[in-house]
Amino acid sequence: MPDVAVVGSGPNGLAAAVTLARAGLKVHVYEAAPTAGGGLRTAELMEPGHFHDVCSAVHPMALASPFFRQFQLSRRIRLEIPDVSYGTPLDGGRAALAYRSLERTVAGLGRDGPAFGRLMAPLVQRADGVTDLTLNQLLRVPHDPVAAALFGARVLEQGSPLWGARFREELAPALLTGVAAHAVAQLPAPTPAGAGLMLGTLAHTVGWPVPAGGSAAIAQALVADIEAHGGAVETGARIGSLAELPPVRAALLDVAPPGLLRLAEGRLPERYRRALESFRFGNGACKVDFILSGPVPWAAPGLADAGTVHVGGTRAEMAEAEKIVAAGRHPERPYVLVSQPSRFDAGRAPEGRHILWSYCHVPAGSTVDMAEAVIRQLERFAPGFRDLVVQFQVTTAAGLGLYNENYVGGDFSAGLMDLRGIIRRPVLGPVPWRTPLRGVYLCSSSTPPGPGVTGMSGFHAARYALKDMFGLTVPSLGI
Ligand SMILES: Cc1cc2nc3c(=O)[nH]c(=O)nc-3n(C[C@H](O)[C@H](O)[C@H](O)COP(=O)(O)OP(=O)(O)OC[C@H]3O[C@@H](n4cnc5c(N)ncnc54)[C@H](O)[C@@H]3O)c2cc1C
Repeated sequence: MPDVAVVGSGPNGLAAAVTLARAGLKVHVYEAAPTAGGGLRTAELMEPGHFHDVCSAVHPMALASPFFRQFQLSRRIRLEIPDVSYGTPLDGGRAALAYRSLERTVAGLGRDGPAFGRLMAPLVQRADGVTDLTLNQLLRVPHDPVAAALFGARVLEQGSPLWGARFREELAPALLTGVAAHAVAQLPAPTPAGAGLMLGTLAHTVGWPVPAGGSAAIAQALVADIEAHGGAVETGARIGSLAELPPVRAALLDVAPPGLLRLAEGRLPERYRRALESFRFGNGACKVDFILSGPVPWAAPGLADAGTVHVGGTRAEMAEAEKIVAAGRHPERPYVLVSQPSRFDAGRAPEGRHILWSYCHVPAGSTVDMAEAVIRQLERFAPGFRDLVVQFQVTTAAGLGLYNENYVGGDFSAGLMDLRGIIRRPVLGPVPWRTPLRGVYLCSSSTPPGPGVTGMSGFHAARYALKDMFGLTVPSLGI
C-alpha cells in the first residue's frame, strides 16, 4: 500500500514523486496517458526514425531550476547546448542573434548593442538571483534583493510603452520581443517582459539546451529515479475521483483547477471551490511538426546555429500578431516559435532528413489549422522552405486540450499568465499548493511558479506534504 499517490506524471508530478520517494515514502504515480511525462514526451509522430517533441522541446528552465539543479539533471542526461540560444529573422536576410556570450550578442546588434548590454548585463551577473525570483517561490522576500530590484526595474521598462526608449534600430527590439512573446499575451505588458528577461538571462548563462533523444529523456530520468527509490509509475490509469485512490496519507495532484474540482467531487469548501471555478485560462497554441528533406534554408547567416528561432518579423509585427490573438482572431502573419533539434542532435532524424518543431498562438479552443500561415512565415525568412517539407502534422489548440486535460482550450500554461494569474495561482496565499482537504496538494503548473519544465510546483507541493503529513524535511535529490 503506497504512502502517497501522485495523480499525473508531468514534470511537476514526477518532481513531486522523486522528492517524496527519496524521503523514504512509498509513492505511486497514476498517469492517464499511455506514456509518462505529460509535457515531456517524444514520439515518432509521422515516420519511423523521426523523433518529435510532442510538447516542450527546449529547456533553459530545466537547466536553471533549483529542483533540477539539485536533481543534477545535466549529469543524468546529455543536453545539447547551441552556441546561439535563439534568434529572430528580419526581412532582407538580417537576424538578431542571442549568443550564449553576451559580449558577442552585443557586438551583433549594431548601434543598439551597448544599450542591449546595459539592459541584460546586470541580470546576467546576478543570474542566480533572477532564477530564484522567477523560478523558485514567488511572493516571498527575495534571496537577492538587488537582483529583484534590477529585474523589477527592467520589467517595468520593457513591459510598458517605454520599451523602445533605449533603442534606435530594429534588431535589439525584435530579439527581446521574440523571447517576451513566449508568454502568450498582448505586448508590451509586465508578464511577457518578465518572462522574456528571465529567459533572456538564461540564454546568456546556462543556455537553451535540447535533450539528446528529445524531452522524453528528462521524464525517463525522473521515472528511473522514482523506481530506484521504490516508487511506481502506472500509465493508462486515469483517476476520476479521489475516492478511487488507495487510502494514502497524501495525494499530490498534477492537474489544473477543473481537474481538482472533478477529483474532489463536491468535497471542497464553497469559497475555495468558487476560486477554482473562476480560475482563468489563457489563449492556446496550434502546433505544426515537420519532417524536412534538409536543414531550414534561413536567409540570414547565423540562424542555422540557433536552437530556437522566433519567426514573426519586427517588434511591431510580433506585437500586432499577439494583439490579434488577444482579440480572439487568427493572425495572417503569426508569431511562430521554431526549434530545430536535429541540427544539434543528429539522432532525431535519419541521415539527410531533419525535423522541425513549431507552434503559433491562437485564441482559446481554436480548431483552426495554422499550417499554411506558419509555412508562409517560414518561407518569408527561409526561401525554399516549402520545397523541403516532406510531411507535416498539425495539432490545433482544441486538439492540445484533448491531448492533455491540463491544457484547457490549448492553454499549455494551465492558467492565464497575467499579473493576477501569477499572484492568484490558483488562490492567493502563502502556500497555494495546499488545498483545504487535509493531505491533498495541487502540484501542477496552475500553481507557482507557473508554466515551463521546472519541476518547481511539484517540488514545493512535496515539500509541504513532507512537512505537514510526515514531519519530514526535503531529502537530498542528487546522484
Ligand atoms: C506545444 C508546447 C510547447 C511547449 N514548449 C515548452 C518548452 O519548450 N520548454 C518548456 O519549459 N515548457 C514548454 N511547454 C510547457 C510545459 O510542457 C508545461 O509547462 C509543463 O509540462 C507543465 O508540467 P506539469 O507537470 O504541470 O503538467 P503536464 O506536463 O501538463 O502533465 C500533466 C499530466 O497529468 C496527467 N493527468 C491529468 N489529469 C489526470 C488524471 N485525472 N488522472 C491521471 N493523469 C492525469 C496528464 O495526462 C499529463 O500527463 C510547452 C507546452 C506545449 C503544449
